[in-house]
Amino acid sequence: MTKLMNSLVKSKAEPGLWMEQRPVPEIGPDDVLIRINKTGICGTDIHIWNWDEWARKTVPVGLITGHEFAGEIVEIGRDVDDLSIGQRCSGEGHLIGHLSRQVRAGKFHLDPETRGIGVNVQGAFAEYLCLPAFNVVPLPDDISDDIGAILDPLGNAVHTALSFDLLGEDVLVTGAGPIGIMAAAVARHAGARHVVITDINPDRLALAEQVADVVPVNVATQDLKEVMARLKLVQGFDVGLEVSGSQAALDQMVEALVMGGRIAMLGIPPGKSPVDWSRIVFKAITIKGVYGREIFETWYKMIAMLQNGLDISKIITHRYSANNFETGFTTMKSGSSGKIVLDWTKGFDKQ
Ligand code: ZN
Repeated sequence: MTKLMNSLVKSKAEPGLWMEQRPVPEIGPDDVLIRINKTGICGTDIHIWNWDEWARKTVPVGLITGHEFAGEIVEIGRDVDDLSIGQRCSGEGHLIGHLSRQVRAGKFHLDPETRGIGVNVQGAFAEYLCLPAFNVVPLPDDISDDIGAILDPLGNAVHTALSFDLLGEDVLVTGAGPIGIMAAAVARHAGARHVVITDINPDRLALAEQVADVVPVNVATQDLKEVMARLKLVQGFDVGLEVSGSQAALDQMVEALVMGGRIAMLGIPPGKSPVDWSRIVFKAITIKGVYGREIFETWYKMIAMLQNGLDISKIITHRYSANNFETGFTTMKSGSSGKIVLDWTKGFDKQ
């Protein structure tokens, strides 16, 4: 008899996700089977829940969603020799090919063939996940499952923040969602002098202040220029981390940067947004688009930083058991939470 598992599935072409019984995946020779302990809810999952235009174009109906996870290896493919049963792990959710020029050059994160678990292929919102052994990232004992479950978005933050040298620099982060807040914390850890984070949501700015040693600015009610004067920024910020996807935030960032400033851009503006390119040209600004995490350099860096004092634990504001997922998604959609972690180890009726 096929063994079944609880899994959170996009089983209808309409808003919502549904907890369903699915067969535990069968692994191939190069895969491992991971028993999921904790998962994080991502903004991407909200798009999939809402079934917006991007989700309708991208996500196949019937998909098990979710890509932020921590768990334990319970089965190993026959060709996998460097992992063991019982190993706690998280993992890179971007599955890559081995044919593209980028991959053959070792730039795995730039593979145009990338497919995402929980987006294009079966995901981690389930009791078990099949993952290529190559994608597994073992978790050291001093990193909890809760933190393990949010290494994917922390990795986005680390990749963004470490795009440019931050030591002694003044950094502006636009967007105080969980990734923006974590990017600000990383910038502080990486030796920035001032880290200013902007948003228009007071709850998020309050959370930013709790998580990291940053200056929160509500640009709906406060003048960023006044804050810059108070911090004695003579010319402007040296580095900008754009994590909001807001056109107004990007415009403000370009204005607030020094000549020759640099911007790492992770936020996704809606559709085609007008940009004042002449400002960018005349200020000699460099803009870098950031996608995912560097595989696996970002993972090594973030684990090392977590072991060396980077503390982002307060970014997790809510914890629910997985069968309470609807509460988790409602809380997330309110826009005022930090990361929300679902626990898959309890609360189900076992068959
Ligand atoms: Zn995510």
